[in-house]
Amino acid sequence: MLNARSCDSGYISCMSLKERLREKALELGFVAAGFAGVEPMAIYIDEIASRPEMYSWVNTDYFSTLRGASPGAKHPWSRSLMVLARNYYRHRFPEELTGLYGRCYMVDERKVRGAEFARFKAFLDFTREQGVKAYFDAEVPARMAAASSGIADYGKNCFAFFGAAMEGSSWIEIMPLVLDVELDPDDSSLEVGCPPKCDDRCIKACPTGALYGPLKMNPLRCIAFHTYYGEEITPRELRVPMGTWIYGCDLCQEACPRNRPWMKKDLPADPDLDSRASDYGLMTLLHMDREHYEEKVWPRFFYMSRSRMDRWQMNAARALGNLGDSCFIPDLERSLTESPFPNVRGMSAWSLGRIGGKKARSLLEKRLGVEEDSVAEEIRSALEGE
Ligand code: SF4
Ligand code: SF4
Repeated sequence: MLNARSCDSGYISCMSLKERLREKALELGFVAAGFAGVEPMAIYIDEIASRPEMYSWVNTDYFSTLRGASPGAKHPWSRSLMVLARNYYRHRFPEELTGLYGRCYMVDERKVRGAEFARFKAFLDFTREQGVKAYFDAEVPARMAAASSGIADYGKNCFAFFGAAMEGSSWIEIMPLVLDVELDPDDSSLEVGCPPKCDDRCIKACPTGALYGPLKMNPLRCIAFHTYYGEEITPRELRVPMGTWIYGCDLCQEACPRNRPWMKKDLPADPDLDSRASDYGLMTLLHMDREHYEEKVWPRFFYMSRSRMDRWQMNAARALGNLGDSCFIPDLERSLTESPFPNVRGMSAWSLGRIGGKKARSLLEKRLGVEEDSVAEEIRSALEGE
C-alpha cells in the first residue's frame, strides 16, 4: 500500500484506493466514512429472527432488511461495504416544528434533489472515475453497517453514535454503499458506548414503551411508525402517548446525554427551512387542500404515499387534541364536519373529547346524529370520556 506522505507525485493519486475514497468523502462534507466486509451481519440477523412478529412489515418480497443484511449474497459481484455518514443537524431547526417532526425528516432532500443529493452524486461520480462500481442499497441495515465499519457504536436506544464526528452524537444519516472492489475492512465498533452513569434515560423517555430494554425496540409501538404507517385510524391507546408528533419522533435521542453537547450548540438558522415552516404547521395541515399537500408537503415528507393526505390531517387533529387548548375547537369542528375522510373526522371527534368542555361536548352531540359506523363510534367514546 502506498503511503501518501512518502509520495511526491500528487497527494490523492498516491494514496491507496481506500484512502482516496475516504478522503474524497470527507472533502465533500460527509462527516465519517468507513469500510466493512460483505459477509452476513450475524448480530442483526439473529436479533430480527428472535422477534419476527415485530419486523414482518420491513421484511417483505418488496423490501427486506434481512436480505440487505447479507450484502455479499444479495450482490454476488460485491466485495466491500463503504459506509458514509452525513450530519443532518447543521442548522437550528424552526422552533414551531420542534416536537412535531423528527429532525432528520425536516431536511430530507431525496425527492427534491437538493444540496445533499448533489453531495452524494458527486461522491458516486468520483467512485466511477476511480473505476469502482458503488451501489447505494437502502436494504442494508445502516446502523449495523456503520458499527461494522468502525465509524459508530451503539446506544441503548438502538441509534448509532459517532465517536469522532459531531461530538459523539447520533444526528447522522448513514448511507451504505456496496462496492465491487475488495478493500481492507476497518476495525469494527460493534459495542454499546453509553456512559455507565446514564441510567437508561432513553428508555424512560419513550412514551409508548417501544423502547422496552437496552437495544430492544419494538417498531410496532414506535411513534414514528404510527405517524407514517398503518392504514387505519391510530389505535386509541397510542393517541395520548404520541403527543404532538406528526412525522417521526426524536424523544429517545433528545433524552440522551450523548446528544446534549451538539444540541447545546449555537447553530446558524436555516433560511430555506425557516421560509417553508409555515407550510407544515398543524393548522395548515389540518385544512390543506390537495394542491398544498402535493406541492409543498409530500415532496419533502414522502413516507406516507401521495394519496394519504388524510393521514396527515388525522395526525394534525390528534396533535391539536393533545395540546388541549379550547382555542382549537373551531378548527376541529371544521374538520369534524367538513373532512371527507372518516379517519380525520373520527380523530377530530377524539380531540374534541380530549379538549372537553361544554362547547366541545355540544358539537359532538350534534354530530352524533349525522355520522355512522366508525366515526359515530369515535364520537360516542369521546362523549363517554374514553
Ligand atoms: S422514536 Fe419515540 S416512540 Fe420510537 S423508540 Fe424512540 S422515543 Fe420511543
Ligand atoms: S440515554 Fe443513556 S442509555 Fe440511552 S442511549 Fe443515551 S447514553 Fe445510552
